[in-house]
Amino acid sequence: MIVIARSVHWFICLLGGLLLSLSAWSQTPKVVPGEYLIKYRVDIGSSQVISKIQSKVNLKAAFPEMNMLHFSVKPGQESAINDIKNDPEVLFVEPNYILEKLDEERPGEVVDRLSMSEVQMQSSLSFSQNYAAVRVEQAWSVSSPYAVNKRPIVAILDTGMDGQHDLFRRTNALWINQKEIPGNGIDDDQNGYIDDINGWNFISNSANFADDEGHGTHVAGIVIGAGLDIFSPQLDQSKIQIMPLKFLDAHGAGSTSNAVKAIYYAVNNGAKIINNSWGGPGYSSALLEALSYAYNQQVLIVSAAGNSAKNNDSNEMYPANYIVPSNISIAASSDTDRLASFSNFGVQMVHISSPGVYIYSSLPGNMFGSMSGTSMAAPFVSGIAALALREAPSLTGYQLKKLIISTSVQVGPLSGKIQSGSRVDAYSLVSQAKSNVQTAASQPDYKPLYAETREPASEAQAAPKSSGGCGLVSTALMNQFGRGGGGGGMTPANAVSLALILSLPLAYYFYMRASRPASRRKHDRFVMKSDIKVNIGGRELVAHMNTISMGGISFNVDEMLEKGGSLTMKIKGPDGAEVEVEGRVVWSEANQSYGVKFSEAKQGISQTIESWTNQLVKSDN
Ligand code: CA
Repeated sequence: MIVIARSVHWFICLLGGLLLSLSAWSQTPKVVPGEYLIKYRVDIGSSQVISKIQSKVNLKAAFPEMNMLHFSVKPGQESAINDIKNDPEVLFVEPNYILEKLDEERPGEVVDRLSMSEVQMQSSLSFSQNYAAVRVEQAWSVSSPYAVNKRPIVAILDTGMDGQHDLFRRTNALWINQKEIPGNGIDDDQNGYIDDINGWNFISNSANFADDEGHGTHVAGIVIGAGLDIFSPQLDQSKIQIMPLKFLDAHGAGSTSNAVKAIYYAVNNGAKIINNSWGGPGYSSALLEALSYAYNQQVLIVSAAGNSAKNNDSNEMYPANYIVPSNISIAASSDTDRLASFSNFGVQMVHISSPGVYIYSSLPGNMFGSMSGTSMAAPFVSGIAALALREAPSLTGYQLKKLIISTSVQVGPLSGKIQSGSRVDAYSLVSQAKSNVQTAASQPDYKPLYAETREPASEAQAAPKSSGGCGLVSTALMNQFGRGGGGGGMTPANAVSLALILSLPLAYYFYMRASRPASRRKHDRFVMKSDIKVNIGGRELVAHMNTISMGGISFNVDEMLEKGGSLTMKIKGPDGAEVEVEGRVVWSEANQSYGVKFSEAKQGISQTIESWTNQLVKSDN
């Protein structure tokens, strides 16, 4: 006999509220005063949304494919933002937060500044990343020969780039916008930017992306250096194109709106890889939306894990921590494959490591120098990913991420510190990409979960309340099963199929439901055959799991389970990680099966499951 644990119900409410509080800013974020980013539930092109607000705001940018706008509130109209928030057509509206380059003290500091000729005289100076066994030169030996039409574009969102540096000039590394005629003052390709020949400066809104900080030039040299010897007097032609997108200023600060614009620009102008050697603790729904747009356009997102020696499983770090399926978070390791002392880590949130200690690369003014940081580790991954994409151009960013991880090398010192316990291997990656030439593009469907979505008051008030006084949970339950629920007895006694609603953090869950009230999509399900342990009323049963998704799992167990009963279960993933969740049995009319609504909302569980599904095959049912 299973007893409904009412205390569990209150526990759900408590945790839900706690998570809502925690997901808010823990400190006052810096914002661009009076500016906002807004996403609508409706098509901004065909509806009246703009005419509805245009008397109160100055429109600064529109992102039609994302149904997002960037605007500033007109003077004297400051109260308009509350009306906008309460518009049921608004999915979220948030201030235009300030972003900053990675918090670097010793990392990021330039050491050993050298001119190009000094660099070339130092015969001992090899590719810095090559001091670890990343096998980059072996990768070149199996790479397809240089060809103009086989040069993937890597967008570098950073402080700009010294395009006049010999390294980029002589290797013809800069992306060229073929549809734009230089210097005619006309937006020839009608992409919204005049004379954007090689990239863009989103701060000055001009084609001059010169690097007034140094960081972006160093990052760009590392990307190029994945494909050629950047210290050789005989520089090869670059197999990779660099699209410099400057959104960080001379102090390394930039706005979310400019980051969104840069991502939008990168995706819409052909970049297949986006390098993010920046980040911070501030969550932004708008930035998540932009990266999700990049994912849907099959773009790989490479994000530095951060330099504060913290565990990203419990530390807010964005964009590295955004759970976008093609976003890969990069730790920095040394030439002996030890985690760099400054590098962030996390067995759930940080995927892989790349060398990032004393990395030599280009600096503005035709110089070179050494820097350390996850900022230096990430672009090497972007670079070798581009080499892989040359061999197998149809691969999606999602497939590319999986390939980078599956071809990496397990190294002892990284075990238990990052998800894969591995450091990248350029040779294995490029070799495997060559054997994936015929692989068709594929990636799972994905919709972002906006943790910070501002819930319009009208809808929040309309949300059904449960008898227990915790509307959050009952709303989630009702929407999950969708058909009104209830009824139905226990079908075949000896093989009860359970569709379990997962222990998504409830704040996420709530917002997800709220964002798609009527026609919610089902989550993609993935095949995951595994035995799981189910504890019901003190008895431990072994059950057989069939599928898993971000929304639930199904399994068979040779036991009757009673509606409303509470249980705990341990699920072991393909990576060996185990999560333990509590829940209670409910009935799914839609699936004609029993399910369990988990009541536990431990941080990181949904991330763990997300990381599992990334490695699994989609289920047909
Ligand atoms: Ca243009």
